[in-house]
Amino acid sequence: MKVKEILAELEKKHPGESEYHQAVKEVLESIEEVYNENPRFAKAGVLQRLVEPDRIFTFKVPWMDDKGNVQVNLGYRVQFNNAIGPYKGGLRFHPTVNLSILKFLGFEQIFKNSLTSLPMGGGKGGSDFDPKGKSENEVMRFCQAFMLELWKHIGPETDVPAGDIGVGGREIGFLYGMYKKLAQEHTGVLTGKGLNWGGSLIRPEATGFGGIYFAKEMLAMNNDSFEGKKVSVSGFGNVAWGAALKATQLGATVVTISGPDGYIYDPAGISCEKIDYMLDLRASNQDVVEPYAKKFPGSKFVKGKRPWEVKVDIALPCATQNELNGADAQILINNKVMLVAEVSNMGCTPEAIELFIKNKLLYAPGKAVNAGGVATSGLEMTQNSMKLNWNKDEVDEKLHSIMVNIHAACVKYGKRKDGYVDYVKGANIAGFLKVANAMVDQGLV
Ligand code: NDP
Repeated sequence: MKVKEILAELEKKHPGESEYHQAVKEVLESIEEVYNENPRFAKAGVLQRLVEPDRIFTFKVPWMDDKGNVQVNLGYRVQFNNAIGPYKGGLRFHPTVNLSILKFLGFEQIFKNSLTSLPMGGGKGGSDFDPKGKSENEVMRFCQAFMLELWKHIGPETDVPAGDIGVGGREIGFLYGMYKKLAQEHTGVLTGKGLNWGGSLIRPEATGFGGIYFAKEMLAMNNDSFEGKKVSVSGFGNVAWGAALKATQLGATVVTISGPDGYIYDPAGISCEKIDYMLDLRASNQDVVEPYAKKFPGSKFVKGKRPWEVKVDIALPCATQNELNGADAQILINNKVMLVAEVSNMGCTPEAIELFIKNKLLYAPGKAVNAGGVATSGLEMTQNSMKLNWNKDEVDEKLHSIMVNIHAACVKYGKRKDGYVDYVKGANIAGFLKVANAMVDQGLV
């Protein structure tokens, strides 16, 4: 296999899809060696087949705003690969959504889902709709219009969407309501559902909790723990609050959260009560970051900056892709950061990752660190199929053990002779092998 040739071909076929090319390049470079050691992969054309989605649905979403004006957004679902299970991956509602972003997310999802050891393929979808500043009724009308098209392509055994940026419990509720009306059945077609109608305990906090369980394993391998560590977190969404809460519970002090306009620095720690306050603000659709500084003395809002300039032991990107670049990485390294775990998808740029690995820092990529979200979605699907609900401890225990196993798989394939663990390589190889073998076993389909 010639990585360069495949990448060049991809860039020719899909010009300008930079996030997608970035994600493919990282995986291909990591797996090149194992791919070449297994001639059956090349014989079955695994890579050429893996880098293209099985299919993509694009549709328009017309809806009416509160003033009676017609609005039109674009909707997408990328069904990437179903070698090991039904397509599975979130829906993102954000004005920046385009095919490049959804293809990168769908591609990453294949390996992430494989790492969980649960039977789930990879997919992703969403819209350029911006829920920010919209009324509850507008969000509902948009979700209904979106589902009016999407429902034809999804199902509990074919494709099971979930949430992502801009899609939380409220949006999943509206989407599920419309699906149920159209399909005339109550099924586990979406995950992240409300507890009273098929949802799983722990799902809202699972991605953040799972990320911390993974980082805890990284620290434990180095005879260390979260106790007494200073932690920076970016964002304050579904993922960030779970990560902040669990890190705090394990004895760390979380000193930052952020939004697109800047970050909050709170040296006293963003403790559990403060997290509850911000969750209330979020639930009532209010801005979280700026009011925080007004409410809690001693904290400050740093406008227009990212949290990576703060001196910490552990940095956790939890907002969006490429949110930590080479310059940020250099500042963290100068400040003697010991661990960076991406909880967002592709949170670090290739330059940042290169610096972390060159400096032998403990660094792990999103597809391993944030896999607890989709893993708990998988547990939600199991509970839906079995028509029962596990209690909080049962779900948390399963999530914890899945994250421990993902960490072990990364170490298995990523540990170098000098003992340094290249988690990027480890995660990519472990995720890839299972999918590639399944593709070969199932023939040319
Ligand atoms: P949310 O929409 O709940 O939160 C995103 C947070 O990031 C918000 O605080 C948002 O601020 C902030 N943010 C968004 N864009 C930017 C930006 N360009 N610069 C700085 N901050 C920004 O999304 P999630 O928490 O669900 O997702 C966060 C990340 O985690 C994404 O990369 C997602 O793909 C990934 N992920 C999510 C999973 C899940 O279970 N939800 C599972 C696995 C991965 P504001 O609200 O003010 O815009």
